[in-house]
Formats: sequence, C-alpha cells, structure tokens
Amino acid sequence: MLLRCDLLGKRYNKHWVFRNFTREFTPGDHIAIVGNNGSGKSTLLKILAGFERFSEGTYSVSANGKAVDENQVYRHISICAPYQSLYEDLTLQETFDMHRGFKAMRVKDFAEFSAVLALENVFNKPLKNYSSGMRQRVKLALAILSDTPMLFLDEPVSNLDARSTEWYRNLVAKHLDKRIVVVASNQNDDELFFCKEHIRIEDLK
Ligand code: ADP
Repeated sequence: MLLRCDLLGKRYNKHWVFRNFTREFTPGDHIAIVGNNGSGKSTLLKILAGFERFSEGTYSVSANGKAVDENQVYRHISICAPYQSLYEDLTLQETFDMHRGFKAMRVKDFAEFSAVLALENVFNKPLKNYSSGMRQRVKLALAILSDTPMLFLDEPVSNLDARSTEWYRNLVAKHLDKRIVVVASNQNDDELFFCKEHIRIEDLK
C-alpha cells in the first residue's frame, strides 16, 4: 500500500489552508499532524483519507504496485472523525453488523467486538442512549478494528475520560502493525504517543 501526495494544496475561497505538501506514506508509517486549532489538521486528514477534494497537486493510492481507482480508495481506509456520525437508532450489534457488511473486521464476531469495547449494560440499547464518551469508543473501535491498511484518526481522545483514554491507548497500540496510521491532534500525547514523525501544518504555508 502506498499513498503519495505531490504539491498538494487546499484553499477555501482565497484562503490557502496549506500548500506544497509532498510525501509518500508507506506501510508502518505512524504519523501525527499537529498544529493549533483552525490551522488545517482536519482538512489535511480528510484529504489524505479521500473525503475532501484538494485545490492543487496530485494524490494517488496504489496497492501491490497497481493504482487504486479514486472511487475505490475508501475500501482501504478507515477513519474516526468528529464529523462522522453513527446511526443513533441502532443498537451496538446492529451497528457492528452493518459495518461488517462493507468492511472486513479484525475481530471474528460481535462477542469479541463487544468484549474489546468493554462497555457494560448497554448492548440492547440504541446508541442514542449512550454518553458521548461511549459513542466515541464505539467509533474508535469500529475504525481501529476494521481490517484496512490505512487508519485515520482525528482528535481520537476528545470526549474520553481518563479510563477511556487508557482504553484507546491500549487498543491502538495493539493494532498499529504495518498499517499507515495518521492522527490529527492538538499536541495531545495520549493521542499521538506512537507516532514517530510529526507533520507541522504551520510549516506547509
Ligand atoms: P484544525 O483541524 O487544525 O482545527 P481545520 O482543518 O478544521 O483546522 O480548518 C482549517 C481552516 O479551514 C480554518 O480556518 C477553517 O475555518 C477553514 N475551513 C475548514 N472547513 C471549511 C469549509 N468547509 N469552508 C470554509 N472554510 C473552512
């Protein structure tokens, strides 16, 4: 799996969020995008994950030496980000079953998924009855446990208390292996402790 960006740039109207972003992401790259609020971390992450158009430059993904069609890139990617929502009328099992319909999972069944999630007494309730921290755990587990070679996380510990933050740290550490993992973070060590390299968005102007 190879993700390549050449001279990528994004602007909203006349305002350039970033420019001249060139790099290759290869298996085992665990990278943080850091910067102040409003600097463009989420925008770059969304573009890398194929969720948002860019304004200049090129972006390509290849697998086993072959270019992946732009409409198929999503199959290789999982993402957990604040702008993604869950179907709140579904139970956890229904959510898991739906997700597994389009993504292979790193757990064999719902029993294993719910054991990893480690939430008590909630499994028969729709997700709208969960707290925001519990919903964030569900989103993180769905993304991290999807069997994709690329994983994107946007401020993963927002809404998490200390116990859930510890849960996130353990879970992500177990599922890094040879994936490309990119985390957008406001310099929070709980989020980016495993990243060997930091991309500073302020340097991309
Ligand atoms: P960060 O993730 O670092 O907080 P963002 O990527 O969310 O920053 O935003 C970067 C800049 O782009 C901000 O100035 C923001 O106002 C602007 N921006 C983000 N999304 C849009 C949009 N859809 N339309 C116009 N401006 C946007």
